[in-house]
Amino acid sequence: LMPGHTPESIDALVDSLTLVEQVSLLAGSDFWHTVPIERVGIPAMRVSDGPAGSRGTEFDGPASVNIPCSTSLAAAWDPDLVEEVGRLLGRETRLKGARVLLAPTVNLHRTPVGGRNFECMSEDPYLTARIAVAYVRGLQAEGVASCIKHFVGNDTEFERNSIDSQIDERTLRELYLVPFEAAVREAGVQAIMTGYNRINGPFCADSTELVTGVLRDEWGFAGLVISDWFGLHSTVEGVIAGLDLEMPGPTRHRGEALVAAVERGEIDAALIRSTAHRLLTFMNLVGAFDDGTPGTDQASPGHPADRALVRRAGAAGMVLLRNELRNGDAALPFTRTGVRRVAIIGPNSAHGEIMGGGSAHVTPTHTVGVLAALTERFSAAGIEVRHEQGCSIQKRLPALDMAICTPLDVQYFDDPSSVDDPDATPARRSSISNSRLMWFTDPIDKARQPRFGVVATSTVTPDVSGPWTVSVTSVADARLYVDGELMIDNSAAPKGGSFFGMGKAESTATIEMTAGHPVEIEVRLVRESSNDALTGLHIGAARPADSSAMQRAIDAAVDCDLTVLIVGTNDEWESEGWDRDELSLPGEQDELIRRVSAVSARTVVVVNAGSPVSMPWLDMVDAVLMAWFPGQEMGDSLADVLFGAGADGPCEPIGRLPVTFPHSLEDTPAFEHHPGRNGEAKYLERRLIGYRWYDTVGREPLFAFGHGLGYASLTIESATLIDPFAVEVAVMNPSERDGNEVVQVYASRRVAAGEREVDEPVQRLVGFARVAVPAGDRRRVRLDLDPRTYSGWDVATHAWAPIDGAWELRVGRSSRAIVHTLEVASPR
Ligand code: BGC
Repeated sequence: LMPGHTPESIDALVDSLTLVEQVSLLAGSDFWHTVPIERVGIPAMRVSDGPAGSRGTEFDGPASVNIPCSTSLAAAWDPDLVEEVGRLLGRETRLKGARVLLAPTVNLHRTPVGGRNFECMSEDPYLTARIAVAYVRGLQAEGVASCIKHFVGNDTEFERNSIDSQIDERTLRELYLVPFEAAVREAGVQAIMTGYNRINGPFCADSTELVTGVLRDEWGFAGLVISDWFGLHSTVEGVIAGLDLEMPGPTRHRGEALVAAVERGEIDAALIRSTAHRLLTFMNLVGAFDDGTPGTDQASPGHPADRALVRRAGAAGMVLLRNELRNGDAALPFTRTGVRRVAIIGPNSAHGEIMGGGSAHVTPTHTVGVLAALTERFSAAGIEVRHEQGCSIQKRLPALDMAICTPLDVQYFDDPSSVDDPDATPARRSSISNSRLMWFTDPIDKARQPRFGVVATSTVTPDVSGPWTVSVTSVADARLYVDGELMIDNSAAPKGGSFFGMGKAESTATIEMTAGHPVEIEVRLVRESSNDALTGLHIGAARPADSSAMQRAIDAAVDCDLTVLIVGTNDEWESEGWDRDELSLPGEQDELIRRVSAVSARTVVVVNAGSPVSMPWLDMVDAVLMAWFPGQEMGDSLADVLFGAGADGPCEPIGRLPVTFPHSLEDTPAFEHHPGRNGEAKYLERRLIGYRWYDTVGREPLFAFGHGLGYASLTIESATLIDPFAVEVAVMNPSERDGNEVVQVYASRRVAAGEREVDEPVQRLVGFARVAVPAGDRRRVRLDLDPRTYSGWDVATHAWAPIDGAWELRVGRSSRAIVHTLEVASPR
């Protein structure tokens, strides 16, 4: 095998292939690989999911370093830091034997309840673009192609496989396309994934206008275009549109069907050749020919330096939203004397939630639990810790607790109806220590369309007596039996809410169980032929409800001098596959915070969620820290910020909100238009996304875009216009701690009210810089502004055009904390 190719040898290679072979390259061979052609030395190329880490080829597979979620990365407003994290992901991807990471996700937060918002960065296209460019640069510096996704208008999960995102031309250009364009033009991103959705009619994967017109012809993108998994629906249109690779494999729409289409003259063979040529050129560029066929060893050791970076990044994203003074001192950092006992309370306070759900999920190499990390720090200071969960936020019952169950005995049958035949012999049998199972192919014969039966059995020995709840959630019909008696039949359960949106809602039953008395749980699953891309089964069981949990938490708070409440969501509430229904914290958490803060001496609330939540209790608490899903080192990242001290010295909360926090869901820009109906999501709020809407219509947010406090308080003393595209600021730190500020510049057209177009934002972010200022010192920094600061998309000429007239640049600490205004009489 000759590693590496020249452009000429690629020409020769493509021409040495038959039409059937060329076509075979245009779809995957399985979930994560392209098709190898050994005859001519073409290896399989592996791709791996991101952005939360680089997972490799198994969903519950070998460990990967889990980085902070993307809202957390964006909240650091620090492209240099994100570039370092990108490099880490590049190294991880190489460990997985892959050359492509399916990341970053750069769709915008059109509504705060978008199920994948945690995986996306921000509501602002400029901030998203800056973070995405850094992410891609870091990744690609390690010899791994970034496959940026999902192109475009894939902004929520509602009817995600078919919804038609209807976005007018200017809104598309000025908002939703911006991060992709920056990644192509500035970072040279090498691959792009099309969205599941339709965009103004055609599926993204079939959109000639976007893939060939905008991406390739206009932006000059020469890399690889990949479909989202099962997101290609055509044989010919996608190839014509410029979509190179159908994923996953084996092909559903290409292969023989595409060869036949060529033979019928529906598509030119030259187009097949040029598409195969692009794939081979890409493989050569990323080094897939040098690697040969990827190996099976994929575990990441989780190097100490990488873990230290994740810890630092997780801390850098945390945003201090509120920190009130009481008797002259603030609740944070935890440096007050006189605290003897602290109560650590909340559903997320034991382990903490480190990532959101869906395809971005990874198995972390290591985790640092919240309670363990905080207890260690408090104990070192001689402070006693009490812990209470307070309430639970399970959306679905937890999987069987393997500590009290025998491993699941799983039998597979060729004929689905055999599950009811006690004499049938299974085609395969295995023992699995987990009751959450997924099959991406037929478990008996991976070459055939999935159609099979499963009988899964486990003996459970309850550790408490009382009414237990059992459940089954599945893709395909399932029945659950306890000691041979039918308890649940989910064949009529509605679809949605599990397994990427393909699974049914959970079905539950209550059974009285006695501690120490074993029962047998059996589930029979019947997978008939269907279009579902996977088969899934989750068997859940929950102990009798603990009705005194909240009271115990209140009692603990009464007993202590300080309460730390760690609340939030988890990877079931925030996941690919479905949106949240509301902004409020799930379960009884609002009630828990109210009741606990009413009795506690001081209350610090840590919100552990990937996107905004409402805070009806805000005025009752002393401090609020937004921690996001901060990655696998969560416990240490959080302790560093709360104590104001990390592994190597002082640690400031330096994050700033990359998304507006609203008072309520009714009070958000797309509320009236989301999620859409009749298969269409009309983006009728147009260019008024996020703060652009709040600031333009004059609505008060709960916390403004860009907001965030530090322990040191800095002032932006002056701002000077150097030229229309550069501003210099002086930042002073009068306090006794070293501090940080994120200086933000917003551009606003100076026109009388009423002269703006209805969807023209009064201001938009055009530049920012993080400035570190030592205690008692001053720093000057220059901010270079977006070259499109004074331009807009002109729908008459279909091009960017300068907007004449007078402008002002607003310099401040958030979209609502503007401290200097600079006039720009004429930008040209
Ligand atoms: C997601 C993609 C992901 C792919 C492969 C899809 O469900 O939308 O973001 O890369 O699966 O797991």
